[in-house]
Amino acid sequence: MSSKVSHYPGVEITHDDLNSRRYLITKYQTELRYAWTSGVATGRFLRGLKKMEIWGRECDGCSRILVPPRMYCEKCYRPTDRWVRLRDTGKVVTFSIAYVNSDASRRSEPILVAVIEIGGASPMMGMLHLLGEVRPDKVRVGMPVEAVWRPANERTGAITDIRYVRPRARSR
Ligand SMILES: [Zn+2]
Repeated sequence: MSSKVSHYPGVEITHDDLNSRRYLITKYQTELRYAWTSGVATGRFLRGLKKMEIWGRECDGCSRILVPPRMYCEKCYRPTDRWVRLRDTGKVVTFSIAYVNSDASRRSEPILVAVIEIGGASPMMGMLHLLGEVRPDKVRVGMPVEAVWRPANERTGAITDIRYVRPRARSR
């Protein structure tokens, strides 16, 4: 309903109508199963995360190191050339301080989300992840960060194998 629509045409079906079976009701339970492939590049990337490794792909055409890795360079229109092990450190490219949850409810403590440029990859190559162990007013663009990994028995080959990233000393 809106300011221009006060009622819908037709006859409203009430709960009493449904409960008294005035209308045909069909109930069924579906059994949906599905699977998909993550692809060659993302598959290797995810398997690496399970071992606390971050892998990118290097392109000899543009000399970029791409992460998340791609088997094909969108800039050069050619296959990428080799795998490159990257560091589990990086820096904050941009960030957001969110006081609302995904269901629009308000948070008492903000959640910090950042785009992280991964160490060893080309500029602006990286991932979106959570920031932890830092106060919201201390987060800065360019801030050096490091991954906080989950323990081995909790890693599943997912981006969440990195629990979050936290500020690090510049020397590392
Ligand atoms: Zn390229």
